[in-house]
Amino acid sequence: MDHELSCQEFVELITEYLEGALTADNRTRFEMHVHHCEGCATYVDQMRQTIALMGKLTEGHISEQAKANVLRAFADWKREGH
Ligand SMILES: [Zn+2]
Repeated sequence: MDHELSCQEFVELITEYLEGALTADNRTRFEMHVHHCEGCATYVDQMRQTIALMGKLTEGHISEQAKANVLRAFADWKREGH
């Protein structure tokens, strides 16, 4: 694998993923990231639940605050040496 998604890239791609708009290549990388990154797996689950509740996804459903929380958690995790 020549390029692994970072958590930042993952969060940026999540709407496209959930809308089925990713290229096959990006989709594969996205799914591989979910398999080894618990934080992102949880985030995807939360997004899916939001969609299930709301019927559809719009940009407004992803609050900047939620994104910031996720990315801060990742930053802490990385500082611990992973
Ligand atoms: Zn991640």
